Amino acid sequence: MRRGNPINTIMNKIISKEQFSEKVYCIEVEAPLIASSCRAGNFIIVRVDKNSERVPYTIAKANPEKGTLTMVIQEVGLSSTKLCQMNVATKLPTS
Ligand SMILES: Cc1cc2nc3c(=O)[nH]c(=O)nc-3n(C[C@H](O)[C@H](O)[C@H](O)COP(=O)(O)OP(=O)(O)OC[C@H]3O[C@@H](n4cnc5c(N)ncnc54)[C@H](O)[C@@H]3O)c2cc1C
Repeated sequence: MRRGNPINTIMNKIISKEQFSEKVYCIEVEAPLIASSCRAGNFIIVRVDKNSERVPYTIAKANPEKGTLTMVIQEVGLSSTKLCQMNVATKLPTS
């Protein structure tokens, strides 16, 4: 997930993960700066590891008090499957 200075690496911890259906997961990540400033319809850029591609995901919900963002992600290809298989407390490297 990236916002602001592209040189800085930010780590966004996965706070919770819920399986909605066979291939659809609801994932909540810690991202206080974005949670406090995002608007309806915004999306974020997620990288599942330092070398992976940058993939956009819609912000389904933001909780500014808790400092978290929620995404609803369908397992489709490499990046989305890797992301959906990550465990709670994993930190996503972003830059
Ligand atoms: C602005 C924006 C917001 C997005 N928000 C979300 C979101 O909230 N949740 C979400 O799950 N995805 C969202 N996407 C899609 C997401 O960015 C990825 O494209 C998706 O997760 C697949 O990436 P991948 O690397 O796993 O698969 P890839 O390896 O890129 O794709 C594998 C194969 O699946 C095909 N494919 C890709 N996406 C789909 C699809 N949706 N249905 C059918 N076939 C597909 C590709 O054409 C390719 O053939 C959004 C995309 C954009 C541009």
